Amino acid sequence: MRDICSHNNLLSLTDALERIHQSLPVLSGEESITLSHALGRVLSQECIAPADLPPFPNSAMDGYAFHSDDISDSAFSLKLVGTSWAGKPFSGQVQRGECVRIFTGAVLPEALDSVIMQEEVNALDAWIHFPNKTPAGKHTRTIGEDVKKSALLLPIGKQLTATDIGLLASAGLYEIKVKRKLRIAFFSTGDELSPIGSELALGQIYDSNRYTLAALLVDPCYRFNDLGVMPDDKDKIKDCLVTAAKNHDVIISTGGASVGDADFIQEILTDIGQVDFWKLAIKPGKPLAFGQIGKCCFFGLPGNPISVIATFQQVVTPALHQLSGLGLKKALRFQATCKSPLFKKSGRQEFQRGILSQTESGEFEVISAGKQGSNILSASSRANCYIVLNREQENVAINSTVLVEPFTTWI
Ligand code: AMP
Ligand code: MG
Repeated sequence: MRDICSHNNLLSLTDALERIHQSLPVLSGEESITLSHALGRVLSQECIAPADLPPFPNSAMDGYAFHSDDISDSAFSLKLVGTSWAGKPFSGQVQRGECVRIFTGAVLPEALDSVIMQEEVNALDAWIHFPNKTPAGKHTRTIGEDVKKSALLLPIGKQLTATDIGLLASAGLYEIKVKRKLRIAFFSTGDELSPIGSELALGQIYDSNRYTLAALLVDPCYRFNDLGVMPDDKDKIKDCLVTAAKNHDVIISTGGASVGDADFIQEILTDIGQVDFWKLAIKPGKPLAFGQIGKCCFFGLPGNPISVIATFQQVVTPALHQLSGLGLKKALRFQATCKSPLFKKSGRQEFQRGILSQTESGEFEVISAGKQGSNILSASSRANCYIVLNREQENVAINSTVLVEPFTTWI
């Protein structure tokens, strides 16, 4: 066991993330899945276009296909000789002076190079009257204009979005290779914790952290196991860790990571793993353990509910991204005007919970979500962003500019 930070020498979040980044293993293993199960998964093989996209020249509009050589200096008329429908191409020959009714996505007849929108012509029986200044080469889609045959469709490490899945489907790719899911186990520690549904004796509280963690871990790249609540009992926690480390990539515990009398995690891990105990310069979430038990990564998070959420999001999530094959991702952060005073002492980077809004003219404003204690879930539940304050920052005056990190893209 190593305790590398003294009280007045806290480890910065950036340094902690760098240490974690350096020590994480590269996880091997992939699986074949079909597109219907691909959302959010990470590609383990690059996807190459088996054919041109689009596979044939076609119309981008409902209108009339014609050849630009037929355009004259003033208005002109072309003879209508047939129709090209989407999925039912025109099969005849088109001569000069002729045109074809065409619909969006229909094959552009080989002899033609332009389309005019139907709203711009006068159709009278078999003659189509084109206006003065009809442009050449408009409203057509060329073969391969989206993707050329053999080009890279998607690279290794791409986390698949709905658009990616559409791209793969349009190229006719149905089965793809992705990184295997991370196997994650978690448990809570604490003699005071009771399961929901039980009558609480004095001194007991419901175990909320496991439910929070289970919700945070809902992700197409993870498969998780809830190992339940452990009492503050050395042997039981040790057994649990040793067993879980055999068949998981990551174990997350909450509680018992600090140096209180009943905080066994530190002691146990000295026997069974290589674990560092950090005092992080962040608030909420100062005590944190990170290391390896065999091939399994271990994160010992603090017990306070808001510290669990903040350390999971700021410390564990980047590690899970790396293990999933996603590489380094950055949370979206931007500036907002702070419309309430914020209280802060210098020394730790803070992730205060805030309520972000956008004015009619598009400026971002944020106010504190209320009490900032690491046990106060209710204020955090009203929040929709972190207000990220650097270590040196002290109290923030109204109308100061602050950095915010939204929880979602919808506010
Ligand atoms: P600890 O880190 O074990 O000293 O716990 C710090 C605080 O978090 C204490 O007030 C605990 O009661 C509380 N706590 C620990 N684990 C949980 C949990 N699973 N659910 C809710 N509160 C917890
Ligand atoms: Mg405890």
